[in-house]
Amino acid sequence: MSLQMLIGGKLVGGSRKLDVIDPATGQVFDSCACGSREDFEDAVTAAAAAFPEWSQTTAEQRKALLIKMAEVIEANMELLARTLTQEQGKPIPDAQAEVGGAAYFLRYYAGQEIPVEVIEDSEDRRIELHRRPLGVVAAIVPWNFPVLTAVNKVGAALLTGNTVVVKPAATTPLATLEIAALWKDIVPPGVVNVVIDANDLGDALTGHPLVRKVSFTGSTTTGSKVMAAGSASLKRMTLELGGNDSGIVLDDCDPEVVSQKLFDAAFANNGQVCIALKRLYVHESQYDAVCAKLAEIAKAAVVGPGSQQGTQLGPVQNRVQFEKLKALIEETRAEGTIIAGGDCPEGEGYFINPTIVRDIADDARLVVDEQFGPVLPVMRFADIDGVVERANNTGFGLGNSVWSADPARAEAVAARLDSGSVWVNKHGDIGPDTPFAGAKMSGVGIEMGMHGLLEFTQAKVINCAKGVSV
Ligand code: NAD
Repeated sequence: MSLQMLIGGKLVGGSRKLDVIDPATGQVFDSCACGSREDFEDAVTAAAAAFPEWSQTTAEQRKALLIKMAEVIEANMELLARTLTQEQGKPIPDAQAEVGGAAYFLRYYAGQEIPVEVIEDSEDRRIELHRRPLGVVAAIVPWNFPVLTAVNKVGAALLTGNTVVVKPAATTPLATLEIAALWKDIVPPGVVNVVIDANDLGDALTGHPLVRKVSFTGSTTTGSKVMAAGSASLKRMTLELGGNDSGIVLDDCDPEVVSQKLFDAAFANNGQVCIALKRLYVHESQYDAVCAKLAEIAKAAVVGPGSQQGTQLGPVQNRVQFEKLKALIEETRAEGTIIAGGDCPEGEGYFINPTIVRDIADDARLVVDEQFGPVLPVMRFADIDGVVERANNTGFGLGNSVWSADPARAEAVAARLDSGSVWVNKHGDIGPDTPFAGAKMSGVGIEMGMHGLLEFTQAKVINCAKGVSV
């Protein structure tokens, strides 16, 4: 039987079916339940009905549930990783890391406490800042890290006393539905719901008056639609959106050493990472050597089905993205010099050989837009002021990195970069304890860490007079 949605504690078949394509073959390999507007309504209603009781649970009860939710994921790691690889494309070890990471995030949240903050405790008054749950949270998820992104949102929402409706992306619903089926018997009905659409019913959540917060991860274009849809009911919003992260390699790096790290930062998950390194600026003294080494690494990378042992880069996740990337590469031929890749391996599936482009202008589309795939433009720079200006000359502001044998030099450059995260001598290091925020068009609000958890709460001040007669 194909996988079903989880609504109000029950598995629901839905009125439609959604075919799921294996990006390694381009063929349908499974189908699952797909919801209607009524199913979405039922899920929000179930989450709202479950909220009063769930919001009254103790911190200990919530933590105990989060641990159980992590345990069933860990116990089913192999199944979940296999499904994730087949629908998403990533190599099995990466899928295992994602599924294991999801359980790890739940365990992290289970270890957190939201403290009551004492603002003032003086002779005549005591002011406390409490944090109350918001209500129903809509968790809207993209296709690059479907499991980790969904579970992260669920963990944060539940720990803070909210109930959730999760909506995976239409091309990667299956592993999330498998998790939903595992959670059905341990999560109180309605506390977590998972609904599926064909990329057509997001507004049934973002416009719903009973949804009090939207935690959205996806593209900037969709993020602004989500914000508009939620504005009538003044929903709280966390928007984690697109990025065009730069990496800046100073003149004192060893090209032999730094190039592998740069390659990994750009091509992890086949470049389909919001915080992938997407534009690389290398000092002119190292430029030729870094370009040559990157091309060598790219040519040696093993591209193939994620299920095949030894694969380093799987297929692009879906046909739309695959066609977009191929068109971008074609356009780039006239704008830069492709020194590795630029072609697709023979056969079926959405495969693109990892592509390195050098001598490309800053206004080429590959540099300006978020490519979100295995194609990296490499530009040269001569002076720090100029490269800082070029790195900041984008509407995006998710992350940047600076690379130098002298971390203090790199940190001085990092301080001038305009993004929510800046890494020194690494790129893309995130975790549940570290706040993650997008500047400019890359997002609104913060996810993860205590700052992220607080975004799932309403601040409530209790201000008591002391020593007065009434
Ligand atoms: P997308 O915006 O097309 O879709 C994301 C989700 O939104 C999907 O579940 C989709 O069905 C849903 N959706 C689509 N239209 C909607 C609407 N009108 N209302 C509500 N929901 C709607 O993005 P994608 O193609 O799935 O993912 C790729 C993008 O996501 C890239 O730009 C990438 O950078 C970004 N991303 C950002 C982060 C981050 O944390 N900043 C993480 C991963 C991906």
